[in-house]
Amino acid sequence: MKAVVFPEPETVVVKQVDDPNCGPREVVVQVATSGLCGTDLHIFRNEYMSDFPVIPGHEFGGEVVEVGEEVTDLQRGDRVAVDPNLYCGHCYFCRNEQANHCLNWQGVGITRPGGFAEYTAVPARACYRLPDELTDAQAAFIEPVSCVVHALNRLRVWPGDEVLIFGVGPMGLILVQALRHSGASQVVAVDKQPARLELARQLGATATVAVGPDQAETLRELAPHGFAVVVDATGVPAVIERAFDYLKPRGQFLQFGVTPMDATISLRPYDVFRHDWSIIGSFALCYTFQPAIAWLANGVIDVAPLISHNLPLSDFPTALRRFADGETLKVHVRPAVN
Ligand SMILES: [Zn+2]
Ligand SMILES: [Zn+2]
Repeated sequence: MKAVVFPEPETVVVKQVDDPNCGPREVVVQVATSGLCGTDLHIFRNEYMSDFPVIPGHEFGGEVVEVGEEVTDLQRGDRVAVDPNLYCGHCYFCRNEQANHCLNWQGVGITRPGGFAEYTAVPARACYRLPDELTDAQAAFIEPVSCVVHALNRLRVWPGDEVLIFGVGPMGLILVQALRHSGASQVVAVDKQPARLELARQLGATATVAVGPDQAETLRELAPHGFAVVVDATGVPAVIERAFDYLKPRGQFLQFGVTPMDATISLRPYDVFRHDWSIIGSFALCYTFQPAIAWLANGVIDVAPLISHNLPLSDFPTALRRFADGETLKVHVRPAVN
């Protein structure tokens, strides 16, 4: 079969590889659509927990074409999405309902072959059968939407809260929609790219602010006492450091964007103390596929406007470069299309 391979850090090829073998508790999925995300870039640069060589791709859905002998609940022809996070189920964290911190964690498209390929073998327990009305494109969004569900489980948005979000790439645009449904009175988006701000407004942002000299004053006018919730979806340390300027007393700061691993910011502990601030992290997802599927199937989250490119596998190396340069929104790769 044809697959994208990172043979070593900073190298990408599209080539023929062996078809996957189906283990007794696995199924083979013929990938319909597979989404490119910032984590793939971190994997490419060896800034994530992957092993090389690796076939990336952790946001995908497709059709079951082979079923392992011990699998009883899936059949050939089932359409599924795959939770790429494989939890052991028996470690300390798994047994404390914190499976995203599993001590024996494995990741499809991270530590084992993923969805930028024609076929991939995955544990049957990681598969979620899709409602008929979900498109292949929506299926490939279940994983990123699940990460937003997890973030909203971590955060407590109170009715009437003012929300400020930095960065409206694909994840930020999902966050905007989810936060609009959470009881917030305002959802204000800040970004450098006017086209992204326009999309944010279409998808529910109550106001948008372009990065620039007027940014601070405009944000003060929108929320004179500050924002109750400030979300970073940029992963840029300089943006994160300044984001606290807009957080009001009792405010919650959510770190959603992924920064370089060794990045630091300076923050006065006195300010955290003096303002009753809460600083919240949100890592990946934690059994949040089901609510994500419900959001997508019921139109709570609209993902169609987030897709900027639909490409065959062979275009992956170019797409990765353009994505790294911020020229794309969500890139969808369709391995069955040549
Ligand atoms: Zn991702
Ligand atoms: Zn575990």
